[in-house]
Amino acid sequence: MTTSTLSHWLAIAEAGTDPIIDALKHSEETLWLNPKRAPFTKVRGELPLQFSDIEDAAARLQRFATYFAKTFPETVALEGIIESPLKRADKAVIAVAEWLEVPAPSQLLIKCDSQLPISGSIKARGGFYEVLLYAETLALEQGLIKQEDDYACFASEPFRALFSQYSVVVGSTGNLGLSIGILSAKLGFRVTVHMSADARAWKKALLREKGVQVVEHQSDYSVAVTQGREEALRTPRCHFVDDEDSTSLFLGYAVAALRLKQQLDDQGITVNAEHPLIVYLPCGVGGGPGGVAFGLKHVFGDAVHCYLAEPTPSPCMLLGMHTGLHNAISVQDIGLDNLTCADGLAVGRASVFVGKVMEPLLDGIYTVSDDHLYALVALAKDSEDLDLEPSAVAGLPGFAHLAKASQAKRESLGLQNSLPDATHIVWATGGAMVPSEDMQAYYRQGKALL
Ligand SMILES: *Cc1c(COP(=O)(O)O)cnc(C)c1O
Repeated sequence: MTTSTLSHWLAIAEAGTDPIIDALKHSEETLWLNPKRAPFTKVRGELPLQFSDIEDAAARLQRFATYFAKTFPETVALEGIIESPLKRADKAVIAVAEWLEVPAPSQLLIKCDSQLPISGSIKARGGFYEVLLYAETLALEQGLIKQEDDYACFASEPFRALFSQYSVVVGSTGNLGLSIGILSAKLGFRVTVHMSADARAWKKALLREKGVQVVEHQSDYSVAVTQGREEALRTPRCHFVDDEDSTSLFLGYAVAALRLKQQLDDQGITVNAEHPLIVYLPCGVGGGPGGVAFGLKHVFGDAVHCYLAEPTPSPCMLLGMHTGLHNAISVQDIGLDNLTCADGLAVGRASVFVGKVMEPLLDGIYTVSDDHLYALVALAKDSEDLDLEPSAVAGLPGFAHLAKASQAKRESLGLQNSLPDATHIVWATGGAMVPSEDMQAYYRQGKALL
């Protein structure tokens, strides 16, 4: 129950009486702990989506595996399953710990979504899933396929002919546009991507090369999404991928949790109350990290602790959850400009539903400055030879935020005794598609700050 309104919070921001809002307003890095976190068994029954929904999404992705293996050669190695490596990062953890002057945790792994096939970012999870769901629904309706059939036939002419009568529209800061654009165009859909001003030139060029129509906007992400939504409403036979409010995107991301469980098992890593899993997820509008975290809670319950990471110019989820206003407040409302080098996280207003769903599930959110993001890009390259974009390194300093948190804060999280035995996972959300000149520019900028 919250009775507070936007004007109430704007008065608080103006008066400077709330330490969290004050830190956000002044672009200071900060750690916010979620006071509404609750035992998972108590809340699971009230969640709007269930474990069976995640399993259903996983089964759908499995059905499409033969399509991917046939159509995208880089997916053959994993038999058409779009998945990324989970790598120990012993050198990175020491480099980051020394730089931030905190003790290094004994076990830190990096989930390399930067290396996901086809589109090189976490958007390959949710974005692909939503396109496949739409394609499957149309093909089933038209009687072109049954669920038991071999889905490799989605690459054949009758399917392309069907999809050429339909269009897909999305608004994006870049990476979602890439994922949706590449796969939809390959299936034969007509595709339009509305790009915000922060979207990189190379992403627009790459999409145009694939036959995607790119509409450029001079304003930020929310406007690109709104314009996309309006275009879709005017267009018959059109599906709008609504990054601000899509449960299918969310479920596509959530499947990652089932895959991660398998990878941890394969590596002999135990997760339980004494050996918790602490996961750090870069957050833009919230669907990607929220979906992954939602899946992780279903798989690991209270043994997993999920933190989101946002850039100091764009802390929309932290602002929305702390105030309880969710998407009814924007970072611009408290005077921030939403201009960040982390283009995948340049979102001023959080998702309509993710914050509410995550209210009892999330442990906390912290912010990272742009200078620290650049520096972390260089640290990740030098220590582990990883090519990560600025958005993708926001999870790296998470353990330092916990190490610096007071004893009281750690107790409130139930981590006072188990922190030394925890497994930390940094979700590295993107990078492989970034052209090498751009990556070198990020690196040089980071090196200069170390
Ligand atoms: C989109 C994106 C995120 C965050 O996902 P949201 O669903 O916007 O919260 C994180 N990292 C990268 C590289 C992204 O492209």
